[in-house]
Amino acid sequence: MTTDTRTDDSGEAPVPASSDAAPGITVDSVTRSFGPVNALQGVDLTAPAGAITALVGPNGSGKTTLMLVLASLLKPDAGSVTIAGFDPLVHPAAVRRNTGWMPDTLGVWESLTAREILVTMGRFYGMDRDRVRSRAAELLEWQELSTLADQPARVLSRGQQQRLSLARAILHDPQVLLLDEPASGLDPGSRIRLRDDLKQMAAAGKTILVSSHVLSELDEMADLAVFIQSGVTVRVEDLSQEGAAGGRFLITALDPGSLHAALEHYSIAYRTEGKRRDSVSVEVASASEAADMLATLVGDGVRVLSFTPGTSRLEAAYLELDRRRPAEGPASLPGPDAGRAGAAHRPGMRPDGRGIQ
Ligand code: ADP
Ligand code: MG
Repeated sequence: MTTDTRTDDSGEAPVPASSDAAPGITVDSVTRSFGPVNALQGVDLTAPAGAITALVGPNGSGKTTLMLVLASLLKPDAGSVTIAGFDPLVHPAAVRRNTGWMPDTLGVWESLTAREILVTMGRFYGMDRDRVRSRAAELLEWQELSTLADQPARVLSRGQQQRLSLARAILHDPQVLLLDEPASGLDPGSRIRLRDDLKQMAAAGKTILVSSHVLSELDEMADLAVFIQSGVTVRVEDLSQEGAAGGRFLITALDPGSLHAALEHYSIAYRTEGKRRDSVSVEVASASEAADMLATLVGDGVRVLSFTPGTSRLEAAYLELDRRRPAEGPASLPGPDAGRAGAAHRPGMRPDGRGIQ
């Protein structure tokens, strides 16, 4: 045993004092089946520290299963994972110390009060009584739950429960945050608040992985997006590369007639938008093509009022994925049913206690 290791309090293998592995999350060719259901069939993912990484995929694509593997609550059948440099199979206690887990619902403790939930959880993490009480009060204050702190958690609204769940996830100040569908069921105000909180934490250097099947929830906050389908990574998109995406753009002009005439003059196909009769939409291959089109229209004297992407960056990436699917074939880009053993065998209900075996 060298001096740069220490024995973990769980009795598991010695934990390196400093890990050489990159911080954040890495996932390499992870597979996991539930009987005949191949939930994960080779997922790859890298989520760097200091950024929000979106895990995007339709219902049943394996997002929750992957999150449970990362939280060391479920063993993968094959492949490897590191969290803040630690392998959950070798150092589960170190992974849990470094990981904050926000499941898709608050959980089974709803008869406890908000404060009791935080204090109990803090004690599980080995925080001393005084420290945990002050940390709980600080987090309740931060999430504007102080006045509800001594109410049973079940009386909290969905938004309040999610705020409590986020406070619970970061109680022990973890380096890595795993959030499973955190925005689902939230009203717009709560969603904006969640987005701002997560951005703040990413700016402070945390690694944040957040799943959703609703693209608009992730669009405003994510720096990176990893798309999975049928348990396989099918695309990684760097959303910080602003402007790379083309897609549909909406245009309005003070005089719609001159806009139509200019588009026809340049043989640019356009569609009049049903709801707003004065706006038209055009398809462009890239942001640079959009910028050129705008310059041309303005140069020709069209008094353009607005020129905006009609689809979000994530939507554009998702739609492109859909468009490319037939050309690339099932080997690299599975179709909706390819490899989805679950489609044929999927049980109607999941057994209770999923995620802890
Ligand atoms: P997502 O979170 O993307 O909606 P999940 O990871 O929950 O997807 O599920 C992926 C697939 O694995 C689905 O077909 C689901 O029915 C199946 N699955 C997940 N957990 C279990 C389980 N404990 N037992 C059997 N099948 C499961
Ligand atoms: Mg899920």
